This record gives sequence, C-alpha cells and structure tokens, in this order.
Amino acid sequence: MIKSLSVRTPKRTCFINITAEVARAVHDLGVVDGSITVYIPHTTAAVTINESADPDVMRDIDVGLSNLIPHVGDYRHAEGNSDAHIKSSLLGSSEIVFVVDGELVLGTWQGVFFCEFDGPRTRTVLVGSSDSVS
Ligand code: ZN
Repeated sequence: MIKSLSVRTPKRTCFINITAEVARAVHDLGVVDGSITVYIPHTTAAVTINESADPDVMRDIDVGLSNLIPHVGDYRHAEGNSDAHIKSSLLGSSEIVFVVDGELVLGTWQGVFFCEFDGPRTRTVLVGSSDSVS
C-alpha cells in the first residue's frame, strides 16, 4: 500500500509544505486508523516535520543547516553536492505520522515538509501504510 507523489522543487535548497498532499494520499490509500510512513527515495533530499505557521522557521532551519554544513568544504565526493548528502542524512529519509479517523495527527503548528538540498528537480515522495485500512 504505497502512494507515489511528485514534487517539483524550484531551487537548490528549499522546504516545501506537503501536508495537504500527504493527507490526500492517506485518503486515497483508505487509511482510517493507524500510521503512515512518508519516505523520500533520494540521497540529497529529506523529510521533516516542523512549524508550518511561520515561514521564517523553515527559512531559519535552511540558513542554520547551511551555516553548519557549507556548500564548499573539505569534501571528496566528485559530484560537488556533499553538503546535500550530509543534510539529507541529518534530517532523514522518513517520518511516521499517526492517523486517526482518516486524518493526520499533527500538532497545531506542525506541517510535513519535503526538504530539497540539491535542486531544482522533480522529486518523488512515497506515502505508505502497513496498518489497518478500510
Ligand atoms: Zn552526490
């Protein structure tokens, strides 16, 4: 039970709120109660859950990560995107979200964000369930 979503990222690093798309996938999958996994099948992107109310939060995470992990540094990977690989591993390739009555269980301020670290590209997001379905 997996649903594949496509996300177009507009620049090298950006965070895209995919909460509505994930919620739609949960409905399409017929998940009523249980949990879903949001999985990113890429090595230079990630998924995270954080504040969706104030866009400056994701901007600050972007700037903070880039200060910690600069684009240019003591890297050997010939592709020139080691910073993107490191950020991807730090934030992680999956998130689990509980589902109750067919709705995502998120805190008031929480949203699900696709994290692009080596765009612009067209990316894939997989939403999967192994739990009870209708
Ligand atoms: Zn690479």
